[in-house]
Amino acid sequence: MLTASVKVLKNAFLDALYPPKCAACGEFIPEAPPSPLPKFLCPDCLMDYTPAASPLCLKCGMPFVSPEGPDHLCGGCLEKKSRFNKARAAGVYDGPLRTAIHRLKYNQKTALAAPMGGMLEQAYLNHYGAGSADLAVPVPLHAKRLRQRGFNQALVLVKHWGRKNGQFPPVEAGALARVRWTQTQAGLKAKERAKNIRGAFAVVRPDLVRGKNVLLVDDVFTTGATANECAKALLKAGAKKVDVLTLAVVVR
Ligand SMILES: [Zn+2]
Ligand SMILES: [Zn+2]
Repeated sequence: MLTASVKVLKNAFLDALYPPKCAACGEFIPEAPPSPLPKFLCPDCLMDYTPAASPLCLKCGMPFVSPEGPDHLCGGCLEKKSRFNKARAAGVYDGPLRTAIHRLKYNQKTALAAPMGGMLEQAYLNHYGAGSADLAVPVPLHAKRLRQRGFNQALVLVKHWGRKNGQFPPVEAGALARVRWTQTQAGLKAKERAKNIRGAFAVVRPDLVRGKNVLLVDDVFTTGATANECAKALLKAGAKKVDVLTLAVVVR
């Protein structure tokens, strides 16, 4: 109780010193009443933010354009069988969320990892529920990419999960590795993406995943090619089930 109130006081003090800035446009964020919306966007940017909410694809989690009707499989998921159980995201990869993710990844704004990680936590609780996964595995970067960027964006989003009293699964960043260098997926079509990423991942610690419900974590779900390859490797190593959680999903 005391610890929590000390923490609140400390945060209020830090906020007074450094009022939070919007991760998309850089404006100061006025103190807002608590809401389930992402806390790293200002009220203006929130107007352009779209949560990944129903009706959505039961498999890949992509929201449908029409706001009416039940969840169902999208055309892509009817056609191809992805190896993961299901994928879910917090929001649509567009507008301010896309800008915020770009700033996190390419402008080294790792201070955004904490508020954006908070958004991922909320999405995990909403879509999967506390305690539903045995472990979280961030999609790994190739060693060369990690040297270039300096950090793995998927890992920094969940790095505090271990301290959250069992609500969130432990994070095992060393379970899965990216063993083959691939050209960037940006600009490739769905089939090219699947081909480009094939065989890029391998489980290096099968003892960590065998018989487990694995939650694969990444920043963006685009065509699902990366998630599918990771799921393939994890299932081959004996994982019971692989679910996917991302900050954002691309509406295709
Ligand atoms: Zn803004
Ligand atoms: Zn789908």
